[in-house]
Amino acid sequence: MNILDRYHAMDYGPAPEARNEADAWLAARDFGKALFIGGDWKAASGGKTFETSEPSSGKLLAKVSDANAADIDAAVLAATKALPKWAASTGYQRAKVLYAIGRAMQRHQRLFAVLESIDNGKPIRESRDIDVPLAIRHFIHHAGWAQALDRDFPGQKGVGVVGQIIPWNFPLLMLAWKIAPALAAGCTVVLKPAEFTPLTAILFAEICERAGVPKGVVNIVQGGPEAGAAIVNHPGIQKIAFTGSSEVGKIIRKATAGSGKKLSLELGGKSAFIVFEDADLDSAVEGLVDGIWFNQGQVCCAGSRLLVQEGIADALIAKVKTRMSRLRVGSPLDKNTDIGPLVDLTQLDRVKGLVAEGARQGAICWQPDAALPPSGYYHLPTLATGVSPANILAQEEVFGPVLATMTFRNTEEAIELANNTRYGLAASVWSENVNLALHVAPQLKAGVVWVNGTNMFDAACGFGGYRESGFGREGGREGMFEYLAAKLPLGPVIKPAISSAQPAEQSDGDAIDRTAKLFIGGKQIRPDGNYSLAVATAKGKLAGEVGLGSRKDIRDAVSAARACKAWPEATAYNRSQVLYYLAENLSGRAGEFAARLTELTGATAKAARDEVGQSIERLFLYAGLADKFEGRVHQPPARTVTLALHEPVGVVGIVAPDASPLLGLISLIAPALAMGNTVVAVPSERYPLVATDLYQVIEYSDVPAGAINIVTGSTAELAGVLARHDDVDGLWVFADADTCAKAEAESIGNLKRVWSGNGRGLDWASDEAAGDAFLRRAVEVKNVWAPYGD
Ligand code: NAD
Repeated sequence: MNILDRYHAMDYGPAPEARNEADAWLAARDFGKALFIGGDWKAASGGKTFETSEPSSGKLLAKVSDANAADIDAAVLAATKALPKWAASTGYQRAKVLYAIGRAMQRHQRLFAVLESIDNGKPIRESRDIDVPLAIRHFIHHAGWAQALDRDFPGQKGVGVVGQIIPWNFPLLMLAWKIAPALAAGCTVVLKPAEFTPLTAILFAEICERAGVPKGVVNIVQGGPEAGAAIVNHPGIQKIAFTGSSEVGKIIRKATAGSGKKLSLELGGKSAFIVFEDADLDSAVEGLVDGIWFNQGQVCCAGSRLLVQEGIADALIAKVKTRMSRLRVGSPLDKNTDIGPLVDLTQLDRVKGLVAEGARQGAICWQPDAALPPSGYYHLPTLATGVSPANILAQEEVFGPVLATMTFRNTEEAIELANNTRYGLAASVWSENVNLALHVAPQLKAGVVWVNGTNMFDAACGFGGYRESGFGREGGREGMFEYLAAKLPLGPVIKPAISSAQPAEQSDGDAIDRTAKLFIGGKQIRPDGNYSLAVATAKGKLAGEVGLGSRKDIRDAVSAARACKAWPEATAYNRSQVLYYLAENLSGRAGEFAARLTELTGATAKAARDEVGQSIERLFLYAGLADKFEGRVHQPPARTVTLALHEPVGVVGIVAPDASPLLGLISLIAPALAMGNTVVAVPSERYPLVATDLYQVIEYSDVPAGAINIVTGSTAELAGVLARHDDVDGLWVFADADTCAKAEAESIGNLKRVWSGNGRGLDWASDEAAGDAFLRRAVEVKNVWAPYGD
């Protein structure tokens, strides 16, 4: 036998991780009192428990208290009581607590890792080397944010009591992503882990006791959807942070509509793993192992769609199959294991069902010739080729070790395929040509893009998605904003819009009759329904008529906004110049606009002149900020730079208020435009002529066709149409409470980001009704990870 034969004949011996400490911890705990509320361990008031078992054997691990609505009440009460003192504590005091948690976790790192692997089934190498160290890093990193709050977030305060609901795939890590920023911001929390994986959160609560977390600041309740729903609906909670499926995310969006609760949703994904023909194929194969077989593919950002350039497809697939044959499927506590069991039998059945359906729809599903352990919820790594873009394996999140493969011919096709999904969480681009990779990254509709890498995370870098992958970011600076609130200058309560009462007579007999149309795609066009809306002067006379926009008009306006590429692709400097030009042209007609405001609203001449002047000033402000509200560069511990790029949200619907009809409209349109969004605006229903007078100003100001579209008509109706339109990416609504609540509830089709005033306007003339708070809503932060070094 020569040395090569010997090498190939070598096999791994078992390398089991000791579990005696974890077993001792399990044996010693009373899981019938597993609710950590106000610093005490409590049984569920209904006396119910649920079972958690070991995925590698199906063996029962514990019967854990199952919280009901009364327990959630108790937890929210404890968090509410603890809030004033915690919120008033200094950043230094909170930093010390966060640091103590991090250090205490470090001292029990091994126990955390073993428990996590026992409860979830993930290989110990992953829990030991990735989940637990990253969770610790989150607490230590956020200790710094607690102290830097005044410096980095002036004028912002913690939102209050936060309800947090997490999934089972990264139980401890998701807990850390949620609790660390909340505590840094001065919030108190009620967190519910997933019912499959309650254990490490219980150990974490013990750590809180030891690390000196004041009683009631962290409350951890156990249970399933019922407990989750009680958190979501609790009136004592000011913010909900949810990680889980898009399906439940949509339920939560609807349930919180109109409640004024701040909301962040980290949902599912169907991320593309794009390999160009100039990629280092061996690295790409190793990347894939990480991308789709990490945690058995039960990863929200799993690279579950392999898009490979045609010329190298056969070579890459051959290499992938060879590598798959060497993946070791086995006990999660064996240090050599690559693939452990799925979390539960239900999850195993779901994955099997999706693979069978994918095959029925034409995919060829290949698995290595390997034996599965005799018990446990194991599934072999699976490669699906011949997958059509409509195949269920290309469209649905499998959340299992299943890779769907498709080929592409050129860069455009790769981008199109990658974006052909309702999700938008992550993507991975493989090419040795950094120019190509950085050309592709900004065009991918995903919150995170890894260049020549995958599944890289860090506490300093935001993580989160676009579209049905949810909204909000976790980690870093943008993650802190999710737990903070700025005091915006609130205006009066907005009453449901009433169109002008039917005015009896024309106000000025000498004027030539002018009909204000809609402004869509750069043209003034008649409303589809050919109906008009009469607009009255302040004195009740007829000031003019405007088009009564309908669903069809909004659809046309959204299509025009989507088709306008010139604006989002323009440089920030170009956008800045156009906004300056708009200001210049508005200023040229300032007198006319002031007169119109007086005629319609009855404002004094001075007040009207001031409103026009402030509108011009605001355009100037955003013209100036267009090329200054920029992203950042992070330097995470890995040899990587992470570019936190500001990208436009996309097509933004804007429903403007009646109060300050010109200034309110401009205050909303200008920041959206400055960041490269295209806009469909519904101006004040009562005073729409102020907006229709803008058409000519827009036409003279080099605004590309489709960048600004204006549809006049009923606020409530058009806001609803915008909310239900799945090609609108963001919606800002300043209208009555009912219209705002409905807009939030009806936004769930594509989970567009809705910013609503909840029935309140702003004091538009105030300086605080402008600036970063608006610009932040006008951008998505995309984190592009670019590794360096050979
Ligand atoms: P899930 O949505 O079923 O459950 C998530 C959590 O929500 C659990 O704690 C569950 O008890 C609770 N819940 C269920 N129904 C509820 C309801 N009606 N109201 C309130 N709470 C409710 O998801 P899962 O199966 O536990 O987790 C897998 C999903 O999580 C995948 O879709 C995955 O992509 C996603 N995920 C996303 C991220 C991210 O950061 N984007 C990270 C990890 C996992």
